[in-house]
Amino acid sequence: MKAILIIADGLGGRPTDLGGATCLERAHTPNLDRLAAQGALGLMDPIRPGVRPGSDTSHLSIFGYDPFQVYTGRGAFEALGIGMEVRGGDVCFRANFATVEERDGELIVVDRRAGRLAEGKELEGAINGIDLSDLGVEFSFRASTEHRGALVLRGEDLSAAVSDTDPHETGVPIAQARALEESQAARRTAEILNAFTRRAYEVLKGHPVNRRRAEQEKPPGNALLLRGAAVMPHLTPVTEEYGVRGACIAGGALYKGVARAAGLEVLVVPGATGDLKTDLAAKAKAALDALSDYDFLFVHIKGPDNASHDRDAEAKKGFIERIDREFFGTLLGGLDLSRVHLCFSGDHTTPPATGEHTADPVPVLFCGPAIRPDRTDRFSERAAGEGGLGRFSGRLVPQLLSYCDFGPKFGA
Ligand SMILES: [Zn+2]
Repeated sequence: MKAILIIADGLGGRPTDLGGATCLERAHTPNLDRLAAQGALGLMDPIRPGVRPGSDTSHLSIFGYDPFQVYTGRGAFEALGIGMEVRGGDVCFRANFATVEERDGELIVVDRRAGRLAEGKELEGAINGIDLSDLGVEFSFRASTEHRGALVLRGEDLSAAVSDTDPHETGVPIAQARALEESQAARRTAEILNAFTRRAYEVLKGHPVNRRRAEQEKPPGNALLLRGAAVMPHLTPVTEEYGVRGACIAGGALYKGVARAAGLEVLVVPGATGDLKTDLAAKAKAALDALSDYDFLFVHIKGPDNASHDRDAEAKKGFIERIDREFFGTLLGGLDLSRVHLCFSGDHTTPPATGEHTADPVPVLFCGPAIRPDRTDRFSERAAGEGGLGRFSGRLVPQLLSYCDFGPKFGA
């Protein structure tokens, strides 16, 4: 038996979204309605009632982890999500290439994004050539899109209780990292960051990429700003706990990162951009292919949350209709629902009226041979409130895998 979980980010809404109805309620969704008629609906509090979820904490909860126990910040998941090797105990940072000017020995930030340079990959090698062995620490840096990247520190006696070197403004010096707690590990980590920052400037300032940018009158990427220190939590992969092979199809790095932390392989799907332009049919085709190789597949679709943050209720409704037509239309054309358990939900509610995540529960749909059907025949928040699954908190992945008879028994 196979399992597929599809999460539409920020799917849930409020009756204030579109004149007395949510975007999902107003949307024309014949494929989802057909699944609702075959399966069962319920409402999920992504973390627990009244907790306003972030996308990372809600996904941890959906995967069966308790975010109050394991969550340490988004940095580790971002680093994992861009393909870095990150182990439990590593300290991760988000990094920006920036432009600085040296004045009286200080490095003054003049552009926090170095003109959104495109040559991060060319500069990556120079950064990774920096020697920190005198400080007893290993590190790895990876450039991602534009000026962005991530840094992972590995070694004994490190701490994430350190302040950012990113001053978050221009015209001021790169900030000195400081210990945020009274510990030798925090002081030592701050010293390492300050040494790394200086050495990064030394290798970047005369780099051929930056000489070329100077000739083109573009701001050089001659410094790295670090922020959001987070230690990688020790998580038991769900693939290990349930004895399954799992994979993930997603555009956004954060979701790929949570999936990797949970033991899933991240599949490369051209056109899966993680925004409103994403190729939903390509994602569905990739999902159908992957289901022959994996027991469990997690598909993340970011669009509804983007439209919600843009406070554009019509765009959210339109994107939900695209999910129904392009994603589910393609998926259901090739899916044998007698051999697959499917779950569709959101990771939280994002009402376009507020443009922010809210704690309201989200609708959940389960479908497959082991699911007891209920009387619902429409997929929406309102229908989900009358669904046979009732209301529960998170843990979609454990429920889905249990319907497929994967996983250990608790007790005798
Ligand atoms: Zn989200």
